[in-house]
Amino acid sequence: MKRIWNGFDTTPHTHPDECTICMGGSGGEFLRLTCGHGAHDLYPIHVTCAVLSFSPVGDDYKLPPRCPVCRATVDADTLLDVANYVQQNKTITFPGDDDESVEQSVYQSEAEKGTLLSILSDAHDMVPDVEILDPSNEELSLKYYQDMINEAENMTREIQSGIEEREYTLEDLEQKEQDIAFIEDKIERMSGRLALFAHHNWVFFEFNFQDLYARLIASKDSLEATTKKIRIEREEKQREEEEEHHHNLVP
Ligand SMILES: [Zn+2]
Ligand SMILES: [Zn+2]
Repeated sequence: MKRIWNGFDTTPHTHPDECTICMGGSGGEFLRLTCGHGAHDLYPIHVTCAVLSFSPVGDDYKLPPRCPVCRATVDADTLLDVANYVQQNKTITFPGDDDESVEQSVYQSEAEKGTLLSILSDAHDMVPDVEILDPSNEELSLKYYQDMINEAENMTREIQSGIEEREYTLEDLEQKEQDIAFIEDKIERMSGRLALFAHHNWVFFEFNFQDLYARLIASKDSLEATTKKIRIEREEKQREEEEEHHHNLVP
């Protein structure tokens, strides 16, 4: 299942949506933490500002990452999600003057991106009961990534052909959505780890790491598109059924 306790809040920036940390209104999406803080309606915090606040204090006195508002601990999965987000070179759109929307890259330079990934990597290793961020034996095997990509690609293909042939019931679609959420979750978490591995220049085999990353993201995008398609299909079907029902009631 998709984790619902954290996420990126894409609500457009408008006054008084000011970031709790930098007091600024624009400059990136907000990060909703496990405790609920960070979203636009509860002490909003920019993703970048949240990451900077996770920076351990000094060399001798390191602290695990915490919510800047309530000091609740931040878990490793959230940090991996954010690493994935940073790696993606996201652009954001926010309202500018004269109702013209302004699109801007969240992360302006590779150096800034590197800084954020370093902080995330350090913060990850400070989370209690989490192993130091090193690739596992599994993650050092090329087959591991190929299997994951194949699984995602096969599932996407199967679901798409199922939709085209219109052979799914609503129950089937619900099951497929859960399947998609499962693999998407797996890929997202892996993408976060890969983002940090790449930052540490851990390139496995003679494999083009960026290519691997691009394929993972492409698989995820494909899964998302399919999910959207499934939802639209379902809504249309429901509407048709409701109309049919209404038609039967009114002679
Ligand atoms: Zn901020
Ligand atoms: Zn909090």
